[in-house]
Amino acid sequence: MVLMMAGVAALAMAASFPVAAQQAPTGAPGIPGVPSPIGDTSAIAKEAQGWLADLIKINTTNPPGNEQVAAMYIVGILAKEGIKAEMLDLTPGRSAVVARLRSAAMADPSKALLLVAHMDVVGVEKAKWTVDPFAAVQKDGYLYGRGAIDDKGMLAANLAAFIALKRANPRLNRDVIFLATADEEQFGDASIKILIAKYWNKFAAGFALNEGGQVLLKNGKVQYVAVQASEKVPVNVAVVARGTTGHASIPTKDNAVVHLAAALVKIGSYSAPAHFTTIVRRYFEQLAAIEDDEIGKWMRSLDTTDRGEHAQKVLSDANPMWNSMMRDSIAPTMLTAGVRANVIPGEARANLNIRLLPGDTIDVLLAELTKLVNDPQVRFEIQPDAGLAAPPSSLENDFYATITRVAGREFSNVPVLPFQSTGATDSAQLRLHNVQSYGFLPFPLTDDDVRRMHGNDERIPLASFAKGVDVLARVIAEFVVAR
Ligand SMILES: [Zn+2]
Repeated sequence: MVLMMAGVAALAMAASFPVAAQQAPTGAPGIPGVPSPIGDTSAIAKEAQGWLADLIKINTTNPPGNEQVAAMYIVGILAKEGIKAEMLDLTPGRSAVVARLRSAAMADPSKALLLVAHMDVVGVEKAKWTVDPFAAVQKDGYLYGRGAIDDKGMLAANLAAFIALKRANPRLNRDVIFLATADEEQFGDASIKILIAKYWNKFAAGFALNEGGQVLLKNGKVQYVAVQASEKVPVNVAVVARGTTGHASIPTKDNAVVHLAAALVKIGSYSAPAHFTTIVRRYFEQLAAIEDDEIGKWMRSLDTTDRGEHAQKVLSDANPMWNSMMRDSIAPTMLTAGVRANVIPGEARANLNIRLLPGDTIDVLLAELTKLVNDPQVRFEIQPDAGLAAPPSSLENDFYATITRVAGREFSNVPVLPFQSTGATDSAQLRLHNVQSYGFLPFPLTDDDVRRMHGNDERIPLASFAKGVDVLARVIAEFVVAR
């Protein structure tokens, strides 16, 4: 009876995740409705909160990253648990960390599960923060700091789930690999691409969990869980206008600045044609069920011949992310021209940050833009840092089914949607190596909290962190514990 009551209370608590609970957790959010194969996680979640605070205090702003200091810290945590971790050196001061829980002496790498998170963070505008971004300040139920959400929260949660599994010591049906990566934010010479090239056999796996998803918290309740299974492909393109240089007192019609500006106005009002990848189609189909009637109706009309075009417009106007999910997007981000106030420059340049739908090619888009700009003084130069399109992760395998089942259940039967992120993650590189990689950031976060990622006053609600640790550990355990 007591047990039953506890179960009912847990369900009632899970059903609403009140705003107040984000401020001060009123009980262990990890109280199981369904017993977890690795037991109660509330104690380890508390420990992991300490690791997260320590990791925030280790400044890994990239550049330069200096991830080696964080890597050594993680090696130390794992060593205390009797887990031998290995540092994978990349460049001076920059290393990744790998550790493994073995299921057998010679386990099949294609079955292994990889838990990935990056150790580096983006820079801060310190003057605009209300707290020290590297002091891990605890305030009003939140832990503040650069990396709290992106991605040290996931790093600490992965560590917690991995250690919980080691402590529970169940029989595993596959190897579980912990991997902390470097240089995710700059994708330079210490990135996962280089890591894979140098050390693939240390962490080869068939499945991976990474950042990139979302558990959306709104009005104190989880609305849905989005699991990233695909991502858009970043490509930078320079727009270069050339003209005659000369004395500014004698203006000419071929001024490069004017031609660049005219080209950008046209590009800025251009919208690439919409089309739908399997993942985006599934996302809208499932989201339609929980959106209000009006928006839901348009989501269901997206693919129809008579109303599709209007539906695309309504949804694109309603939400800029939806707009970017259905087409190649172009954002002008940088401008350069001129050397002196009184000199007409011979060249003016802009950078376009383009995000292609996977499967689209930059040449097709640039052919369109060339026609649109229609100016022989303007040309496009594709920059060498373009991402590579990766095939989407499958929505039909056991692992995706496990994530969907467990996350849905643990967040009170909310829908779990497949998601194609507009931003890029380490998962693209993994997918290119046949890893079924999924973005599952397990912490319930409001839109306001998500917007602080890469912004000021980044923070994670402590109750969400504890809940996220619990759900993540359950997802992993239900997939890797042998029955
Ligand atoms: Zn990140």
